[in-house]
Amino acid sequence: MSRIAYVNGQYVSHRMAGVHIEDRGYQFADGVYEVIAVRDGELVDLDPHFDRLDRSLDALEIAQPMTRGALGVVIDQTVRRNRVRDGIVYLQVTRGVAPRSHPFPPDPESALVITARAMAPPSAAIIEHGVRVVTMADIRWGRCDIKSIALLPNILAKQNAVESDAYEAWLIDENGIVTEGSSSNAWIVNADGALMTRDLSKSILGGITRSAVLDACAEDGIEVLQNGFSLAQALNAREAMVTSTTSFVVPVVDIDGSQVGDGRPGPVFQRLRALYMAHLNPR
Ligand code: PMP
Repeated sequence: MSRIAYVNGQYVSHRMAGVHIEDRGYQFADGVYEVIAVRDGELVDLDPHFDRLDRSLDALEIAQPMTRGALGVVIDQTVRRNRVRDGIVYLQVTRGVAPRSHPFPPDPESALVITARAMAPPSAAIIEHGVRVVTMADIRWGRCDIKSIALLPNILAKQNAVESDAYEAWLIDENGIVTEGSSSNAWIVNADGALMTRDLSKSILGGITRSAVLDACAEDGIEVLQNGFSLAQALNAREAMVTSTTSFVVPVVDIDGSQVGDGRPGPVFQRLRALYMAHLNPR
């Protein structure tokens, strides 16, 4: 549990923390966020997260709440005050408080909230046995590359997964192509043994974990086809997996009740997982 939250310039008790009812994040989902992993007390891939935050803010013309240096200090303080060694930082920037009206307010002052809490990595059972995913139509908007706090379709998809006893929901576009998970990027090893994940576009969020795994693959000489793959290809795949800040790399062994490969986490997953764990624990 987060004990101390940073809210617009102050560190306050998490229990008492709140924002104004006319914060545009609350009223319009007019804001963006980042989730950053904390591993052994260190922030993982902080610069790529800052870069993506900048891109999201720029796309929505929301002003930076503070300089990158200052933001780093506040994030660090929030992690320390909550004594998080392994967990996550949640950071949200909204267009701030203004009387409710759709257009951007004339002099917006960005609002910033940061929380930090301990979180266990995926369990040994998940890594050993893999997880199930279910699929759903991707009903999201046309700018899924922006890490917007407007997550209603993602929430509905994840709830559907939970109710189906699945770990994640994979979202399928109108052409039958898997875009990504409700809160993760999707990967397969196709029937020919090629590792695939969807290319970057406005249809997916460019995951920081996806990017770190791609870099590790490049360094390790593993070829990755950044082509969209269809649900039909996924159902015929040898292996499947998801990547995210909180999941790291998790093997998928069942899609919509259909077994993936031999139903066990495969060798490519094992390799990617090892590479990503080495990235998380460089020492
Ligand atoms: N896609 C979506 C829709 C997500 O919400 C997330 C996680 N926030 C990801 C992909 C994975 O991104 P990351 O690796 O940066 O956590």
